[in-house]
Amino acid sequence: MRATMLYGKGDVRFEDVAEPTIQKPTDAVIRLAASCVCGSDLWPYRGLQPVDQPQAMGHEYCGVVEAVGDDVTSVKPGDFVVGSFVLSDNTCPHCNHGFQSSCQQREFMTGAQAPIARVPLADGTLVALPAQPDEDLIPSLLAVSDVYGTGYFAADAAGVKPGMTVAVVGDGAVGLMAVLSAKQMGADRIIAMSRHKSRQDLALEFGATDIVTERGEEGIAKILELTDGVGADAVMECVGTETSMKQAMYGARPGGSIGFVGVPHGVTFDGQELFFAQRKLLGGPAPVRRFLPDLIDQVLRREINPGKVFDLHIPLEDVAEGYRAMDERRAIKTLLRV
Ligand SMILES: [Zn+2]
Repeated sequence: MRATMLYGKGDVRFEDVAEPTIQKPTDAVIRLAASCVCGSDLWPYRGLQPVDQPQAMGHEYCGVVEAVGDDVTSVKPGDFVVGSFVLSDNTCPHCNHGFQSSCQQREFMTGAQAPIARVPLADGTLVALPAQPDEDLIPSLLAVSDVYGTGYFAADAAGVKPGMTVAVVGDGAVGLMAVLSAKQMGADRIIAMSRHKSRQDLALEFGATDIVTERGEEGIAKILELTDGVGADAVMECVGTETSMKQAMYGARPGGSIGFVGVPHGVTFDGQELFFAQRKLLGGPAPVRRFLPDLIDQVLRREINPGKVFDLHIPLEDVAEGYRAMDERRAIKTLLRV
């Protein structure tokens, strides 16, 4: 089969690779219904993360089980499944506490920008749907496996509750999903920080009530202005830079919470500053597995449409263009038709 390999900065190739097979008794092999490009794929693509050898790309997936290892009991061939981008056993103490992304057996999914993929720790990682989903739900089910699950964790980690005033830093795919998540959790006022028209429109569609175009100190001032000088109850940080982290920190009120899911690059904390800021911080790779059953239900009930975050749909074989479009910000997120 042909699949996506990253050779180095800006060098994505769709080329012949060996078809995945069951390697361990806890594996499953699935045929993907669709795949996509993640914002985090752009870090190595842009040369901001070293690529020592060609890497199999892709960690967001949903599709039909083709084969399972001897120990797998929760899914079977023919099942339509959605999994998390973090592979977990879902039985260890950290998994039991709902932090499957810190599983004692944690691995990260790779090789999902392909027609067929191997999913290790299948029992702990995959959730089977009750039946084959309607075709039009595939983008939203795919979104659940990472981008929506990550936005949802940002809102959960920030402790979003009904009636709250919240802010979202970042208008990338995850930021937009954080807006949708805050809406689902009942936030009253949702301030989205965005300076791009098309992203503002999508944020408003997902439930944002206010748009702030300013950044940095000005952005913080604007959030304070909108909240009578107090700050937001909860802020979701979905970028990962020093500036965005500061915006999140000081856009929140004292005692408020920050859920941060942008992978930090060059972010540092000062102990004294944290001490006097009095904000709660929780972040990291999202334990999407905790939310999967609920998020899948939200999609199957047609309550939400997170798949709208994919504003470019192209064939898998054109994956290199999918990366370029996101790198050049021509697309928010690329869906790859398998
Ligand atoms: Zn575990």
